[in-house]
Amino acid sequence: MTLSQGTDLQVCAERLLDDIAGFAKFGERPDGGVDRIAGSPADLEGRAWLLRRVAEAGLAGSTDEIGNVFAAAPDGEDRYLLTGSHTDTVPGGGWLDGAYGVIAALEVLRTLHENRHPAARMVRMTGFFDEEGARPDSPGGLIGSTAFADSAGIAGVEAFLELHIEQGPRMETAGWDLAVVQGIVGIDRYAVTMNGSANHAGTTPMRQRADAGMAATNLAVRLRQIAAAIDPAMVVTVGFMEFVPGAPNVIPGEARLVAEFRSGSEHALDAVGSALRYAAQTVAAAERCTCDVVRISAKPVTVFDARLCRMLETALDRAGGTATRLLSYAGHDASVLAARVPTAMIFVPSTAGVSHNPKEDTPEPQLVRGAQALLESVIEYASAKVRV
Ligand SMILES: [Zn+2]
Repeated sequence: MTLSQGTDLQVCAERLLDDIAGFAKFGERPDGGVDRIAGSPADLEGRAWLLRRVAEAGLAGSTDEIGNVFAAAPDGEDRYLLTGSHTDTVPGGGWLDGAYGVIAALEVLRTLHENRHPAARMVRMTGFFDEEGARPDSPGGLIGSTAFADSAGIAGVEAFLELHIEQGPRMETAGWDLAVVQGIVGIDRYAVTMNGSANHAGTTPMRQRADAGMAATNLAVRLRQIAAAIDPAMVVTVGFMEFVPGAPNVIPGEARLVAEFRSGSEHALDAVGSALRYAAQTVAAAERCTCDVVRISAKPVTVFDARLCRMLETALDRAGGTATRLLSYAGHDASVLAARVPTAMIFVPSTAGVSHNPKEDTPEPQLVRGAQALLESVIEYASAKVRV
């Protein structure tokens, strides 16, 4: 059996773009965004439509217990490369997050199948259920991919590839069309409580205050510099802060904040945790306060498979684009699969870096190039396997 060395097969740009737009009809909003929350009627109808498109392509569709959608060639092998992404959106989401990787996977599989390419038998498409965790009762995200990774079905998966929009501005800024994602940042969150003394905002002299609010604010202000000194690529966010009792005429007796750090280095995340504790003690003491620092969650760094990443680089070059390597600062189903099978991701740029927003977009030529890159990657994977 000989496998063609890519380039002679092309995804159908029109069909790809039509199907991405067709899928966005499910949960479409007047502002161009999409509300396709996992488990909602729009999500159920969208997944039923997806299965119809699978059948129309002459492929075998299936759904597992949790609601993940799969497609395979009718004569697909038992061990295969899985590729896809998620079918749900956040409330007020865009048309590409998740959907793009699912529809591109379908386009790749049907292109291979209709051309009777031998790689068609070695690849399957998936659309994972509830990646976003946006339902009020959702226990966090990555629900479908986690259920699949823990099921008997994972035994057939040799490797996983996920094509996704970047959801940030790095690629557009740098002028990159395609990127091989090396891994996903680890995320550590800390709850900090400053304990001071609530008192009258007028009668308490400045030098006699134990102002927990000021201590928490001073800490928040220092965190950017602390993070940058440890890892210039680290991002830090104080997205929650609360003063108690929270009245304009009362010096806060207690203040709470949550600091979140994301980095591609576990070492840097550990170091910033220590630095945070030290800084919290220092600013608390300066305000006559005491402090508690608790790490409330820690998601480890995901490192994608080095061999797959190298293979993707070859394939992406062939798909004609400036391929580079970068880290993902957002979570993806690929992080779940990476714990079980060799996994890697491809990114295309996001216009203005906007995502989880109705304005989310990527220029059509880049969407097509990304799908072509996925096709080249699948062919490269299959031919490497045959060579082995
Ligand atoms: Zn996504």
